[in-house]
Amino acid sequence: MRILVVEDETNIAEALATGLKSEGFDVDIVGDGNDGLWRARETAYAAIILDILLPGMNGFKVCRTLRAEGVWTPILMLTAKDGELDEAEALDTGADDFLSKPFSFVVLVARLRALLRRGTTPRPSVLTVGSLSLDPASRECHRGTAPIELTAREYTLLELLMRRSDAIAPKTALLDEVWGPEFSGDPNIVEVYIGYLRKKIDTPFGLQTILTVRGAGYRLVADVEPDHRAADAPTP
Ligand code: CA
Repeated sequence: MRILVVEDETNIAEALATGLKSEGFDVDIVGDGNDGLWRARETAYAAIILDILLPGMNGFKVCRTLRAEGVWTPILMLTAKDGELDEAEALDTGADDFLSKPFSFVVLVARLRALLRRGTTPRPSVLTVGSLSLDPASRECHRGTAPIELTAREYTLLELLMRRSDAIAPKTALLDEVWGPEFSGDPNIVEVYIGYLRKKIDTPFGLQTILTVRGAGYRLVADVEPDHRAADAPTP
């Protein structure tokens, strides 16, 4: 089985290669994100060990790009020590697991073998509410087939609304999760951003899917049942 190691720190990359070879793996090493992306596209690796801070293109971008292109090779991401945010983002970009540096080689091999057992089956996690879709791997948003550009803040807010679309999302919870508990500005910022989202996901399509529930919060509803869309047969 061939493993791709994308790591610019030569000593780590070489130690990994030596260790993995002794475990019976074939190993390719690249030290640049662009090269890593290219190799991962061109070769059917059994798994990829991907560092985050890389020259050329960072590991998050490499991972997100591969997933957006439908490459589902298992990815084990190497995060910085105490990088809790890195870990959350690693999974958000479509990595399968992460290991923080410095790591034990024994643990790395155990995690790697677990990923290899899982294989390369597609694991799409696209969120849909009616005709609205959001892909956490590529961060792309569509209404039907129309692409919608979102800022980072709008994306985070919409993702929360979509994940909670079966319930009302309280304004305070949105403020906390999107702007953080440290935010000390005007809480009406939530309304402002809900307004921005409506202008992007609703108004151009003549829809009203972000409902204001007075005194409670917001709720995102479906404009159409997804099943009905799926049943739409192309006309001959
Ligand atoms: Ca690095």
